[in-house]
Amino acid sequence: MFSFPAVLGHEVLAELGGVRVVVNPLLSCLERGLPDCPACARGDDHLCENVAEGSLAPGMLGFCRDLGGGWAERMVAHRERIFPVDERVPDERAVLAEPIAVVLHGLRQAWGRGDGFEWPSRLLVIGAGSIGLLAIRLLRTLGYAGPLYAVARHPRQAELAQRLGASQIFSSAQAAQQAAGARRYQGILGATSWRGGFEGVIEASGSPGGLQQASWAVREGGRVLLLGAPATAFHDFSPYWFREIGLFGSYTYSWDDFAQTVKLLPELEGLEALVTHRFPLEAWPDALQTAVRRRGIKVVFKP
Ligand SMILES: [Zn+2]
Repeated sequence: MFSFPAVLGHEVLAELGGVRVVVNPLLSCLERGLPDCPACARGDDHLCENVAEGSLAPGMLGFCRDLGGGWAERMVAHRERIFPVDERVPDERAVLAEPIAVVLHGLRQAWGRGDGFEWPSRLLVIGAGSIGLLAIRLLRTLGYAGPLYAVARHPRQAELAQRLGASQIFSSAQAAQQAAGARRYQGILGATSWRGGFEGVIEASGSPGGLQQASWAVREGGRVLLLGAPATAFHDFSPYWFREIGLFGSYTYSWDDFAQTVKLLPELEGLEALVTHRFPLEAWPDALQTAVRRRGIKVVFKP
């Protein structure tokens, strides 16, 4: 839920009193001056039930008609959502705190156990845009040491994926499945079916067909983590039934996920390479063109 017109921007590195800070841009009961809803009360403020209630116009993340986002010289944020950044962290990595928190939350959703993780024996990441690349780096930092396969479309993505910790890169999910020893069968009605595959699959492409590829790439009894927004309305859920797959949806992060992310930033070396383009605010048409035409990985404004 959103309301417009609004100044956009929810991935924010800012300066407050001479200190670099990152902003957790969630808008929940806290910002709206409301008593905690059940989700906020249990620490899941990213699932707040009051995103269209209280003193602010509707908005879930970063901005709404009454509260501008980060594409500006100044912005307003609640003090509890402002986190100082360790001075060892370069700007280009710090500005990625928000999407890194998205990935950390997802990994906790699918494979978190208590304070740690219980990792699958073999993982596939579909998509090597910013979210896929962040996932590869974060998995390694959090201690996943097993085979980590990635599907990348462009040579630059493939090269970065490898540098950030992927063991092998493939041009399609099917190629990765075959390399993992999965077997392909032709169904009676013409549909393709697979047996075997990866214990864990992360859909990070947000592309049409990405979720469907993940549904077949995952081994029987495995788990699919949905980080990319599903790009198609129709989806065949039968693999989830007859192969007993678990599907984990993941949206943004809790307050705690964001706080943990800020602590992890000094260890996440290499991610600064994801920032490929910088623009002053006045050059917003060029910045938007660059982002929309996918010429870069991360495009940032430097007001
Ligand atoms: Zn709430």
